[in-house]
Amino acid sequence: MEHNITLIPGDGIGPEVISAAVKVIENSGVCINWEIVRMGAEVIEEFNTPIPSYVLESIKKNKVALKGPVTTPVGMGFKSVNVTLRQELNLYANIRPIKTFQGVTSRYENVDLIIVRENSEDLYAGIEHMITEDIAESIKIISKKASDRIVEYAFKIAKEQNRKQVIAVHKANIMKLSDGLFLRCARNIATMHSEIDFGDVIVDAMSMKLVMNPEKYDVLVMPNLYGDILSDMAAGLIGGLGLVPGANIGEEGAVFEPAHGSAPDIAGTNIANPTACILSAVMMLRYIGEAEAADKIEKAVEAVLKEGKYLTCDLGGTTGTQEFAEAVIDKMGK
Ligand code: ATP
Repeated sequence: MEHNITLIPGDGIGPEVISAAVKVIENSGVCINWEIVRMGAEVIEEFNTPIPSYVLESIKKNKVALKGPVTTPVGMGFKSVNVTLRQELNLYANIRPIKTFQGVTSRYENVDLIIVRENSEDLYAGIEHMITEDIAESIKIISKKASDRIVEYAFKIAKEQNRKQVIAVHKANIMKLSDGLFLRCARNIATMHSEIDFGDVIVDAMSMKLVMNPEKYDVLVMPNLYGDILSDMAAGLIGGLGLVPGANIGEEGAVFEPAHGSAPDIAGTNIANPTACILSAVMMLRYIGEAEAADKIEKAVEAVLKEGKYLTCDLGGTTGTQEFAEAVIDKMGK
């Protein structure tokens, strides 16, 4: 079966890590017809926006996209392209699996958790204004609909992956109305999934607990801003941003992208770690029903990291981005 998928190379290290991931997928036996679309700073002059309408049209048509990081140009009055994409396509769930790899030096062993971040509201709704010249106000939106939906999604993942526990992360002791509503929704949804343990932890305490004993946690679900912060922090627990994949899932489509940004400091030098992008592609393959190819790629990535012969700079090695992809392809054949 051939799949039509939108491919967004992005900017900075985006085109390099995307090209590595595409190469690996093409060697996995899955047949994909890529529709390549450009967005971000490089198209602003031509289209007067970093997200031309063809980007949304392509994703709406194909329902699935693999995306490299796209930087929002600073100081030109454009809203974050990533946030806009998520809002326009109603990609309400952001999923980041955080897992330690054998062969990668990190502070912990046996971390295997999933951060499920609400992707459509909270302070990211973008409602802010100046009250006076010296006072700014940002409005935090939390709705029952979005809270129910994201907690339900967290339990769905927990069930699909045979996980034992879901924890809702919040700050309801201070934001009694907004986070209070999120917590009430989470507790209510949890009663419908009594086979899975449920708990809730305040976000500051959760940060400490994650740094002390990350291996104790399974599925964490939270509003947008806490998810943004805790998922980058969690990446640090397992060896850095170059290892963490991500998915943005909605009712009508999904966009898969690495957790890292465009890393302009190392762009164009073939030293970026493509693991996060390759593993985002693995999540995408599972989403489109190509589980066998996904397993094959994931096992090959794990084997290359474990062997330690071909590691990129961020992991203490000297292997280039494309050479890492070649090493994964080589392992897939074995
Ligand atoms: P953004 O605002 O787009 O998220 P940022 O500069 O805040 O960008 P990243 O681009 O995600 O954050 O990365 C921060 C740093 O981490 C980079 O400058 C780079 O040195 C390192 N880094 C990120 N991704 C990778 C990768 N895939 N391989 C190696 N190093 C990386």
